[in-house]
Amino acid sequence: MSVEEKVKKIIEELWRDTNTVGAEDITADMTLCNSLGLDSLDMVEMVMKLEDEFDIVIKDEVVDEFETVADVVFCINAIQKKKETDRVCEKCGCTENDCSECIAAQNEPCYWVAPGKCSRCFDENGNLKANS
Ligand SMILES: [Zn+2]
Ligand SMILES: [Zn+2]
Repeated sequence: MSVEEKVKKIIEELWRDTNTVGAEDITADMTLCNSLGLDSLDMVEMVMKLEDEFDIVIKDEVVDEFETVADVVFCINAIQKKKETDRVCEKCGCTENDCSECIAAQNEPCYWVAPGKCSRCFDENGNLKANS
């Protein structure tokens, strides 16, 4: 399922009680408030579901900018992309999910001292370790 389809599904779920809007009726250019009639409570619920579904954090100031379904999809794509690059070590290329080389080298998984910097390669200040 694409990000857009998942977003539509989540919006559809908000309407489960009244069942007036199906995912297939939702288009990217629909506005959340006017076309879909989501109120501020629905928005909070939607954001919670989105954060759950995509394992991301959406900041309030970003939510304030949400106008259309497309805005939501764009935002999630952007956050996911950032998350991917944040979690790849720029030196050794290890990721949160595959850190096996670091574990072999130091007998423990590394943690992230800063975006793109794992603890095996960088010190607490984000400086490259001399021995790496
Ligand atoms: Zn590293
Ligand atoms: Zn690592």
